[in-house]
Amino acid sequence: MAEITEKDVLEALGTVFDPERQQDIVSLGMISGLTIKGGHVVFAIEVDPERGPHLEPLRKAAEDAVNALPGVLTVSAVLTAQHAAHGHDHDHGHDHGHGGHGHAHGGHEGHGHAAEEPLMPGVKAIIAVASGKGGVGKSTTAVNLALALQSLGLSVGMFDADIFGPSQPRMLGVSGAQPTSPDGQSINPIEAFGLKVMSIGFLVPEDSPVVWRGPMVMGALEQMMRQVQWGELDVLVVDMPPGTGDTQLTMTQRVPLTGAVIVSTPQDIALLDARKGLNMFRQVNVPVLGIIENMSYYICPNCGHEAHIFGHGGAKFEAVKLSTDFLGEIPLDIDIRTTSDEGQPIVVSKPESPHAQAYKDIAGKIWDKVQLLKTSKKGPKIVME
Ligand code: ADP
Repeated sequence: MAEITEKDVLEALGTVFDPERQQDIVSLGMISGLTIKGGHVVFAIEVDPERGPHLEPLRKAAEDAVNALPGVLTVSAVLTAQHAAHGHDHDHGHDHGHGGHGHAHGGHEGHGHAAEEPLMPGVKAIIAVASGKGGVGKSTTAVNLALALQSLGLSVGMFDADIFGPSQPRMLGVSGAQPTSPDGQSINPIEAFGLKVMSIGFLVPEDSPVVWRGPMVMGALEQMMRQVQWGELDVLVVDMPPGTGDTQLTMTQRVPLTGAVIVSTPQDIALLDARKGLNMFRQVNVPVLGIIENMSYYICPNCGHEAHIFGHGGAKFEAVKLSTDFLGEIPLDIDIRTTSDEGQPIVVSKPESPHAQAYKDIAGKIWDKVQLLKTSKKGPKIVME
């Protein structure tokens, strides 16, 4: 099969016209981050943020143009406002990077950017759920924690920022839902079990290869943060992409996080992945609220016997060593898997179960800590990159 080159792709994109600017999108310099990997093509189309919502047809036309090339297997084009003319980028690097504290107090006061609208102004606290690597149950934990926080009487949002594998639409049973826009500018989140939900998965199918480069991802995420009408929320839970690479690090700086919780399994504790996750947040002065041990032990569905397959209690021990808190443990249990994979997370489908209770206990601890952070005068320091 013919090897696709950058030139081929740019030629194809050169046939796509921006209707408002009457020129093709390559000549207009709108294409960035072009990556070609064995038949999979990914690129960003840089647009003015105000125009973003109207440009879906343009994005689609660009994808179709590339798709028509022989040898192309998949194409992902994203609209990004990354290099928009207002200098947002620069501002965010400093303003929002460590804004958890400022945010909790209702704004980004004092850095000379008062005119700029704060991200998600009605959201009182933002909690990242993160993990040192994939597959540890981060998304399952995030969704159950969000629902558990809601069971405490809080208004809760779920922002699925796991660009590598957005699974919240599936876990909340709203796959394929299409967020609506009342005015062509803002986006209404999807509602599921009383949560306001937004996911990159509503914009790209869960199974499409997402090999976006960091900057493109940030553009898309920031756009989502700005445009989604979260309204007034006590807390927004962010399902972070797994791992501790540059993308994750940048995201911890761009989203005005109040604090982070790290999900790990006993194995991953042993392999120090959790430690890397913790250090990443510390590096950017986002308070780590604690560690949750997931798949901590196994309960035999037949006899109720508890088996500690990977050793147990490692997270508790590690938390002490890392001077952070151990928030609790969740067993490896088939009910937790089937409910979340079926779009009926256990906290809502079996609210009286001990597992639901375990999530609620952890949610209670997290909420207490958030209150403490909000009243504490000493927030995280502002560090310039
Ligand atoms: P991550 O977000 O870390 O990649 P997921 O939350 O998608 O992980 O979980 C991976 C798989 O493990 C899913 O099928 C999920 O249902 C399952 N899972 C997560 N936590 C548990 C648990 N405590 N017990 C049983 N299965 C679990």
